[in-house]
Amino acid sequence: MSSFLDKRFASLEAYVPGEQPKDAKYIKLNTNESPYPPSPAVAEAARAEAEKLNLYCDPDCTLLRREAAALFGVGEENVLAFNGSDEVLEFAFMAYGAKIAFPSISYGFYPVFARLFGSDALKVPLREDMSIDHRDYLSLGRTVVIANPNAPTGLALSPGQIEEIVRSNSGSVVVIDEAYVDFGAESVIPLTKKYDNLLVTRTFSKSHSLAGARLGFGIAGEEIIRDLNTIRNSTNPYNVNRMTQAAGTAAIRDNELYMSRCRAVARTRDRIADELKKAGFELTASKANFLFVRGGGLSGEEIYSGLRKRGVLVRWFSGGAISDRVRVSVGTEEQMDVFLAELKELQNEKK
Ligand SMILES: *Cc1c(COP(=O)(O)O)cnc(C)c1O
Repeated sequence: MSSFLDKRFASLEAYVPGEQPKDAKYIKLNTNESPYPPSPAVAEAARAEAEKLNLYCDPDCTLLRREAAALFGVGEENVLAFNGSDEVLEFAFMAYGAKIAFPSISYGFYPVFARLFGSDALKVPLREDMSIDHRDYLSLGRTVVIANPNAPTGLALSPGQIEEIVRSNSGSVVVIDEAYVDFGAESVIPLTKKYDNLLVTRTFSKSHSLAGARLGFGIAGEEIIRDLNTIRNSTNPYNVNRMTQAAGTAAIRDNELYMSRCRAVARTRDRIADELKKAGFELTASKANFLFVRGGGLSGEEIYSGLRKRGVLVRWFSGGAISDRVRVSVGTEEQMDVFLAELKELQNEKK
């Protein structure tokens, strides 16, 4: 830290992303990316836009927003595009985060944004079984942020439970982060038509094979969208670059392909979960594209470092309340078979 840094940032602890190794020797199951490359039409659309990189991109993301509105079943005035959903979450904390509540175990960026913007943050504990008790969020009278399904547990609330939270906090914004919803939970986007205090965020990083392009969306009633657009235009009106706008538009046109891949990932997830349970591991009932695993006679660190030595990268959150577990992104069938075989060998070595 330099002596010039504003005191407000002196104690900031930045978010630490999962590692991105520079060599290709790992089976990468640590950052919940899609194991599949983008569809040919998406790669082609991005390549064609590369020819025009001398020109600024469309600050209104007109085409992309038109396609996204149709995909999400809302009006164009109800959707905005962002530089990853991290950006819309950042803006939501900036705009509505003075008093905020989120689960004590959830996406690691929430506490970072809370610190960055000096929020009065209430961290609500999970139940013993790692699920969210939606009643903890009723009538809180502060902004609420919940990932549904939650990360890294993969456990989901029902739309009815979320609606109760939204209805009982009508004077505050409720942000539902649907980063993983395409892998098996139910979206509450339809509720944005009924409630003016609901903001739903989406990302194309996981379900649409575009983590490297950075594309997320905010979906809400017109007033919240106007707020977020004001912040966007006060920071970077060109927040979604030209290649990403084209790639995102093409990805929506190929949505059926991506949804069938999500269903395949969900099937693989459930198959591997069954195998892990048979081998003595304990798992949450994940509806996301990852598994949250512990036990089997191994500590979280032993699983993480043992697998790493064997060429499989998983995510281990060291030092906190969940350090006995690892989060394993669901890759292809073949990748997951290697993961399972290596994990079982680790188990046998220990015996
Ligand atoms: C990955 C993730 C995000 C961020 O997605 P980007 O669009 O890549 O910024 C947001 N929320 C949760 C819960 C995530 O896991």
